[in-house]
Amino acid sequence: MSAPALKLVNLTVSYDRHPAVHHVSAEIPAAEMTAIVGPNGAGKSTLLKAMMGLAPQMEGRVESTARRIAYLPQQAEIDRSFPISVFDTVLLGRWGRFGGFGAAGRADIHDAQHAIEAVGLAGFERRSIDTLSVGQFQRVLFARLLLQDADLVLLDEPFAAIDSKTVADLMRVIERWRDEKRTVVAVLHDLDQVKREFPHALLLARELVDCGPTARVLSPENLLRARAMAEAWDDHAAACDVPMRLSA
Ligand code: ADP
Ligand code: MG
Repeated sequence: MSAPALKLVNLTVSYDRHPAVHHVSAEIPAAEMTAIVGPNGAGKSTLLKAMMGLAPQMEGRVESTARRIAYLPQQAEIDRSFPISVFDTVLLGRWGRFGGFGAAGRADIHDAQHAIEAVGLAGFERRSIDTLSVGQFQRVLFARLLLQDADLVLLDEPFAAIDSKTVADLMRVIERWRDEKRTVVAVLHDLDQVKREFPHALLLARELVDCGPTARVLSPENLLRARAMAEAWDDHAAACDVPMRLSA
């Protein structure tokens, strides 16, 4: 196997000193598609942010061979009330690399047009993003990722609340990235889709349950274990609402 794109070494990520992800060691294979799966609150989004070095409190290490990382946050985290066109939103994918005067060049404009066509949005260039459906807006965000030309693409629940036609079209974009030897890591909820389309998986329940070939990682035993771990932390959360009287 080639060198992994990402190596997590005993990684713990905390918020206000409360660990959301504990002691995770795992390798993400380069030029492959890996799904991150786990119950709500399992730390999946936190792990993705840590892969970019965006998590504030980290112990352990993230080793990466990536030169450029593209990241798609969960849609709920994105504000699109600002009236900006589809074309300009996509072009912003290049923002960090515009020339000396901070303006887009001919090649940037050409690539933006190409990316809009690749996600099936030709004709929508001048539309304001606040008028788009959830699925259309996700297509815009994928076009912007295309422009980033990253070798590591991190997607946080790219298909949550997205219609099936859009899911199918955007899966083709993900496969194209894989064919271009880019590494794709996606947080996903649809286990059937993961089994069908993602050869590698990482199952997280604050701790690592398993990481490796999807058929093994998503075994009934592992999924039961992940659920039991989630119930344990839910119980703990409920207990914390009760005033602590143990020391009295
Ligand atoms: P998932 O994406 O698997 O649903 P998250 O990574 O979003 O899980 O959250 C894991 C845990 O960390 C949860 O208990 C969540 O409440 C907590 N958490 C997430 N983000 C923050 C934050 N910015 N501040 C404090 N706690 C957070
Ligand atoms: Mg999340």
